[in-house]
Formats: sequence, structure tokens, C-alpha cells
Amino acid sequence: MLDDFKENQELVYNILTNSIKNNKISHAYLFEINGEVDDYNIIIAFAKALACPQHYTNNNKCGDCSICKRIELNNYTEINYIEPDGLLIKKEQLLSIQDEYNKIGIEGKYRIYIVKECEKMNKQTANSILKFLEEPVPNVIAILVTSNVNKVLDTIISRCQHIKLHKNYKVTSTIENICNLICKTEFDKENFMLNDENKKIGNNIVDFITYYEKNKLNTLIYIKEKWNDIYNTKELVDNALNLMIIFYFDVLKFKFNTNNYFFTDFKNDLNIVSSLNSEKDIIRKIEILIKNREYLKCNLNLNLLINRLLIEFGGEFCGNSSC
Ligand SMILES: [Zn+2]
Repeated sequence: MLDDFKENQELVYNILTNSIKNNKISHAYLFEINGEVDDYNIIIAFAKALACPQHYTNNNKCGDCSICKRIELNNYTEINYIEPDGLLIKKEQLLSIQDEYNKIGIEGKYRIYIVKECEKMNKQTANSILKFLEEPVPNVIAILVTSNVNKVLDTIISRCQHIKLHKNYKVTSTIENICNLICKTEFDKENFMLNDENKKIGNNIVDFITYYEKNKLNTLIYIKEKWNDIYNTKELVDNALNLMIIFYFDVLKFKFNTNNYFFTDFKNDLNIVSSLNSEKDIIRKIEILIKNREYLKCNLNLNLLINRLLIEFGGEFCGNSSC
């Protein structure tokens, strides 16, 4: 929910929540993002706050109603995504959604379409968007998203409420010191995958990471089956974190086209995770994993560790809690 961004995106949080609480919703927003991993999380949280009729009446705590749940599972029909089909966003993509909206009655408070990489509209699409921006349809909100605002038409920018996300985090390590940190990992990398039991753990970890990378914080819904039930001792969690570090390190190597992978048999997963993360994202995740492996030495709640870790992966946690 939006409240998760109270600290990290304070300004944006205040603008968005005030507009909802004061019922001053704009019919179009232009989100300028940074290409960070969690950029879309705040946009989805905002969409959820708009669509859910109880969001700011239920003590700010909704997230449980059928609409909120469906949004999280990405099957709520009144929030639609449009992204470039090939190189460009085509007019038909926009029209088919508008058509759909004309046919059926509205369920929630608003219908929202989120246009990813909105700078990639061709002229016809830009004209239809402009038409919508000039003559808005009641209860329909356009959220345009770009990481390259210089390429968005001025006429579009001027008709949207412009929301600029600020950069959440700094990467402090260079690849070189990441290598050093990983080499210090007390872990028998050479022989690990030779043992069948370990191989199974390796498989599970790759599945878990790939699932997380595709589903982000929705992973928390299934965290019991996917993590807590499997890694239920300190040793197992320690092993799992080490393997995650090594996997992300492999992803980094994959980006640089070097060989010598630990997870040699998982090129497809390496490719997927690599395509979803910048070099900076991966280094940041490795840093977070190393830090959480340190926390493990304290007697903390094992189940909370993974929750916190994934939230931090998404860039939504900035506490400095330690032992
Ligand atoms: Zn709700």
C-alpha cells in the first residue's frame, strides 16, 4: 500500500495521499521513474488506493478486499497495462481498452490504464491520448510512465500531473569489492552441486529467485510454502542466503558474458533475472543478502528475515536495524 512509501518517497507519498483524501484526483498522471526495481510498486499501490472504494476509509489499512487482492494478483480487469507492442505503443492497444470500458459497468471507484514507456507512442496513439487528456472520461484515469521524460511530447506533459520518483538508494560497492566479499564466503563452492541433496536446494533457490523476480512482493503471499516451510533452521537459511548471493553473482557474470558459472545448468533463469535487473540492481541485492547473512548471526526470527529481505530488495525498507 501507499503507506509503505511514506519514508522512501515522502514527497510523492504526500502528493498522492492528499489528492485521494481530498478527492482531488487528476484524470492523468505522468510518473517519471528511474528504472529502479521498485518503481512500479508505488504506481500499483497508488492504483490500488484509487480503485479500492475502502482504501482511505478503513483506517488506511485496506489491502484485504476483493479488489485489492485481485490487483495484487494482477487479475483485476479495471486496471490495464499498455506497453510497447514491438517498438511502439499502437493506437489499437489504447482503443481496445477504451472499448472494453464502454461495454461494461464499473466495479470499483476508478478505471485505470497504466501506459508503460509512454514515450514510445506513435503519432496516432499520442493523438488519441491527447484527445482523452482534453476530454477526460468520468472515472477513468490514465497513468503514463516514462524513464525518459525528454522524449514525451510537451503537449502530453502539460496535461498530466507530473510525479517524479526520487532515486531510492545508493549502491556503495564496486564489482571489485563485491568479488572480494563473495570470495570470503565460507562455502565449499567447488563440491556443493555434486551432492544430490544440495542440488535440490540449489534448484529450489533458483526457482525462488526467478519467482520473486517475476512477481516481486507478491511472493510474500506464498512465502510460507516457498520459503518458511523449506528453510526452517538457521543452517538452512544460511545456506540459502549463500546460494542466493552466488546466484546473483552468476547473473552479474552473465551480464558481462563471462563463463565459469556456479549455476551452469540454469542459463535460462540467469537470462531472465539478468533481463529484469540492471548491473546496479544486482550489486545492491548482493549487498542486501550479505548484510542479512550477518543478521542471521543474531537470534532473530527466521521468518521475518526473508520478509524484510524481499521488502528491501524492492527498495522499500530503509531502516538500519542491526542486532
Ligand atoms: Zn481494498
